[in-house]
Amino acid sequence: MNQITEQVYYIEPYAQTLNAHVVKVREDGIVLDRTIFYPEGGGQEGDRGFINGVRVLDTRLTDGQIVHIMETTDPFREGYEVETVLDWPHRWHFMKAHTAQHMISGTMYTKAGINTVAVHMSDEIITVETDRGDIPLETLYQIESAVNEEIINSREVSSLEVSHSEAESLGLRRSIKVSGDVRLVQIGNVDLIACGGIHVRRTGEIGRISYAGSEIVRSHVRTIWYYSSSAVSHQREDREVVNEAGVLLSSRGRNIIPALEHLIQENRNLKAEVRSREEMIASLVLADGKKVFSSPVELSAYHKLCSEGRVFFAVYEREGGVNWLLCASDGLFSRFREKLFPLYAMKGGGKGIMYQGSASCSADELLSAAQGIIMESERNG
Ligand SMILES: [Zn+2]
Repeated sequence: MNQITEQVYYIEPYAQTLNAHVVKVREDGIVLDRTIFYPEGGGQEGDRGFINGVRVLDTRLTDGQIVHIMETTDPFREGYEVETVLDWPHRWHFMKAHTAQHMISGTMYTKAGINTVAVHMSDEIITVETDRGDIPLETLYQIESAVNEEIINSREVSSLEVSHSEAESLGLRRSIKVSGDVRLVQIGNVDLIACGGIHVRRTGEIGRISYAGSEIVRSHVRTIWYYSSSAVSHQREDREVVNEAGVLLSSRGRNIIPALEHLIQENRNLKAEVRSREEMIASLVLADGKKVFSSPVELSAYHKLCSEGRVFFAVYEREGGVNWLLCASDGLFSRFREKLFPLYAMKGGGKGIMYQGSASCSADELLSAAQGIIMESERNG
């Protein structure tokens, strides 16, 4: 794959410093004769760190070369000897994530015949997109338990180079993407796959994983997993949320759900009751016969009361202005738009017999102006 740089990260995946020589200075970074910096790939982030004290922002495979993306390339010339220092916590975190992802995908495949379509890893989560439209929760819990058991057993993670034909004869769960010799990565009896990533030595380093949920993408189930320290911190956070919700609802554990359902239903009923009372008030207001008025209730309460031939203009005061509702013909609305919209910074529209919007002015000035327009229209017939 790469002819210029010796990939020391495969030989010594736990090396944190290395001396090397600059073989190329590019605009975006530098290329070395040997490196412990792993370039982004296979869902794994590129390494960060320092070269001669200058920050390495990322490591990428560009034009077939491993490029160390530098904060600045100014201090570097071809042939210079440099000291490279890896951001080890960042790298180790991703080694754990990557190995955990193999274990999840491998276990999904062997226990349930589920294939992995795509993966992604971040600081906090691993996502594994599957080839399934639906996976029972029970199956996911079985996978979670099986993976955690293999983590506790701290299985050895090993790699070996084999010929392409030998690799193909093994019937791996994922097709081989490279030509020529293949690097196989084996995790106990959990997974065997062709992979160019970096892994931990033993699965025990991962600590644990926990299933965090699923979502549907491209009609596939994408599973989400916490790992290592995030598995603990998220579990604590989830527990705190449940406990706090329990206190607010005076419930515990599974009783929280019916308590919440009851609250939601109660809220729906109350909203419906408020709405029916507002509509009753609106009909009383209209029965009074006024055509222009400030409404004591939200204007949506008048929607059902709008009918052809009926004319009224109502405003409802809110912070910084008013909401308005006009029940009238489109001819009258056109007059409002022409004469009042520019004067009172009115916005809004509608069709047929109902028009509504907002305005940045006081209720009184808008009402008296509206009164004028309606009276004028009645005079003109
Ligand atoms: Zn791998």
